[in-house]
Amino acid sequence: MTDSRYSVVIIGGGVVGLGVALEITRRFPHLRLLVLEKEDRVARHQSGHNSGVIHSGVYYKPGSMKARLCVSGAAAMVEFCREHGIAHNVCGKVIVATRADELARLEELRRRGEANGLTSLRLIGPEELREIEPHASGLQALVVPSTGITDYAAVCEKYAELVAARGGTIRTCAAATGIRRIASEIVVETSQGVFSTAAVINCAGLFADRISRMAGDDPGVMIVPFRGEYYDLVPERASLVRALIYPVPDPRFPFLGVHFTRRITGKVDAGPNAVLALAREGYRHSDINVRDLASSLAFPGFWRMARQHWRSGLGEWHRSLSKPVFVRALQRLLPEVEANDLVPGGSGVRAQALRPDGTLLDDFQFVPSDKVLHVLNVPSPAATASLTIGKVIVDMAAADMGLS
Ligand SMILES: Cc1cc2nc3c(=O)[nH]c(=O)nc-3n(C[C@H](O)[C@H](O)[C@H](O)COP(=O)(O)OP(=O)(O)OC[C@H]3O[C@@H](n4cnc5c(N)ncnc54)[C@H](O)[C@@H]3O)c2cc1C
Repeated sequence: MTDSRYSVVIIGGGVVGLGVALEITRRFPHLRLLVLEKEDRVARHQSGHNSGVIHSGVYYKPGSMKARLCVSGAAAMVEFCREHGIAHNVCGKVIVATRADELARLEELRRRGEANGLTSLRLIGPEELREIEPHASGLQALVVPSTGITDYAAVCEKYAELVAARGGTIRTCAAATGIRRIASEIVVETSQGVFSTAAVINCAGLFADRISRMAGDDPGVMIVPFRGEYYDLVPERASLVRALIYPVPDPRFPFLGVHFTRRITGKVDAGPNAVLALAREGYRHSDINVRDLASSLAFPGFWRMARQHWRSGLGEWHRSLSKPVFVRALQRLLPEVEANDLVPGGSGVRAQALRPDGTLLDDFQFVPSDKVLHVLNVPSPAATASLTIGKVIVDMAAADMGLS
């Protein structure tokens, strides 16, 4: 028994699900499309709790999906914001080496960026760094002019508005609770009734592995939630930062290290760190979800990851619980910043796929399985790349699931 029949159902109203929905309505306007979002509005989780950076593509391994989709996605995002009047600014950023052992990694980043097709990257010394960011300090810096900032919650609202204008349906407060494959159709049970469809695209972010299991598939990974916490620079000290000041990232981790970001609103924040969260939607230390915790502890890859990274994991917790430690990390980039300049800001929780062997999946991962396509790993820069991710996923859906 079904209330309604659709050609395709997307689970998840974040920037990825909505980017896919936008591409479907553009390419296949005749299809009946439904987006299910369990919250009362779109972009309630990662897509509305991020740094708002339009990443350039400088960090990612040449040839990876992240590299290709970020570079093309950044250009598409800037164009989208321009076309739809969404506030954005291609302000550029500096990645600053503060220790001698980071110099070779900075040079490697420049090589990567060029291999990924970025032009105008420049390595500069401390004097030129001070001309760009007068309060930053370092041995050398990489200037990345194509990095920008925007507001991804506003981007999501615009995606949703365009999807609806082209005939797609977005249902909020509609959690997918069951998926059954019956002959040639799929039945999706939700908190708002039952829908039948020819195809499902799982863009459930922090719950993508559970939705995959709900559909009877083995995701092969577990989603681990890593909370990123921010401090805000008090307005009187926001002038310490003109645009974006980043450290050289540790190549062992997929996170970029705490940095300074001037938001599109003019506010400057510092962070995010990367603390293992005790709940998939655990925005505060006190948020603990027994089911989430138990499923993490039962996954063999979790213990393998813990064995490899316990030292840095404890370091992140320490920095999270101790403001002076957080401030010391920031002072490497901006020596003048002091504890009094910073007040607690917001937080976001990243969905990071973990393999059974304990490695964190680096690249994006989209896995088709019969009439269901699972988007299992779309960490940063997926907001930047959401328009091009939408195109690639719709290409896959057309090829593997007969979407036409
Ligand atoms: C702290 C932080 C900083 C970041 N900074 C940047 C940045 O500067 N630039 C950048 O490009 N990227 C950044 N990212 C990454 C980026 O935000 C994510 O890659 C992107 O938002 C992922 O989008 P998504 O749609 O997959 O996930 P989400 O936005 O989490 O959307 C998934 C949606 O699925 C819904 N859902 C889950 N289960 C169900 C269910 N059963 N039924 C119905 N709906 C369900 C959820 O409610 C949610 O709305 C950052 C991320 C974080 C957390």
